[in-house]
Amino acid sequence: MIKANDPTRRSWVEVPSGSDFPIQNLPFGVFRTKSNPSPRLCTAIGESVVDLAVLNYMDLLDDLEIDHEVFNNRYLNDLMALGKAKVRELRDRLAEILDAVNDEAKQLSWHFLHPMEKVELLMPVQVGDYTDFYSSLEHATNIGKMLRPDNPLLPNWKHIPVGYHGRASSIVASGTPFVRPQGQMLPPGAEQPIFGPTKLLDFELEMAFVVGKANPMGKPIRIENAENHIFGLMLFNDWSARDIQGWEYQPLGPFLAKNFASTVSPWVVTLDALEPFRVAGPAQDPKPFPYLQFEGEKSFDIDLEVEIESESGAKATVSRSNFKYMYWNMAQQLAHHTVNGCNMNIGDLCGSGTISGLTTDSYGSMMELTWRGSQPIKLSDGSERKFINDGDTVTLRGWCERNGIRIGFGEAVGKVLPALTD
Ligand code: CA
Repeated sequence: MIKANDPTRRSWVEVPSGSDFPIQNLPFGVFRTKSNPSPRLCTAIGESVVDLAVLNYMDLLDDLEIDHEVFNNRYLNDLMALGKAKVRELRDRLAEILDAVNDEAKQLSWHFLHPMEKVELLMPVQVGDYTDFYSSLEHATNIGKMLRPDNPLLPNWKHIPVGYHGRASSIVASGTPFVRPQGQMLPPGAEQPIFGPTKLLDFELEMAFVVGKANPMGKPIRIENAENHIFGLMLFNDWSARDIQGWEYQPLGPFLAKNFASTVSPWVVTLDALEPFRVAGPAQDPKPFPYLQFEGEKSFDIDLEVEIESESGAKATVSRSNFKYMYWNMAQQLAHHTVNGCNMNIGDLCGSGTISGLTTDSYGSMMELTWRGSQPIKLSDGSERKFINDGDTVTLRGWCERNGIRIGFGEAVGKVLPALTD
């Protein structure tokens, strides 16, 4: 067992019940404070942030022989480049430092512990390339039904983990607002397109994995090694403009309907921390090609939810889903992505695709939840939403829970500002 995952371990840091960050989680992030604006690496415990650069200065990480620059860093990429074995040693050490038996560390904690609400959590990964998959059978079927009622699921879908190359520049950390995008769209029944702010702004409930190990061009990642290349996971909101999408997506797929903003959670939860939450995925029929066949459990039981809050404070939890519903798992996605020799780099991000379940309250987008706007959702003040309004804040949350241990992802929060129309 990974030492840091020991379920019996408790911390001297207070961890309120229901916290996403018990001592068994120890995710990685990047933060800064008002008094020290230089970004540096951190982990989370309870409602606190632990400054890894200071721990290293204090010689508490010394024998791990990790370069100081790795911790005094704007991004996690150099940490990931050390490899999983070294990062596992670091997580184990952090668990020892924060363990309830470590009174010495507790006495020194004023040097390295900050209240999470007082720090700024930054975009944790320098994303080089970003790919978005389309791996939920329920989502692909729902969208297909709306677009092609007679033929909802395209014939390739159960053979190929379908994806497209997205844009990395507009992936932003939780809490970063963005303006409603403008673009071209074809109104229903019209013969000519119009230009203006999107009327059908949507969220997409997704998870994303971060590549922590590169493969050389020409050398595919085999499925049995795929998880060695996955550092960890984040929450991912792939904001989408449905009307812009509808007009532009043929023949080459998503473009301006997607690349204006995507929101990630500030914490990367390691695949190591998620080990206890493996589950079997859905049965796959037809049997995939051998390069996509795998042994063991490659899906993860991660509860997900989406909340909308209006400018005036009216709220509704509009979706409750689970990462385990994904038809294609991450190992299959990565094996497929590289089977042609495509090289992945450290920091590359792969979105799962919208995660919808079987029931109507588990759909992962407004497009599905309101069935293209025909069945609006009510917020707590009685106001209705078909899609996302200006001033609305959308929050994704995710967590695993088993035997009293909860490993959470925190939140991915994004607020929509009015379009800039002049
Ligand atoms: Ca997507």
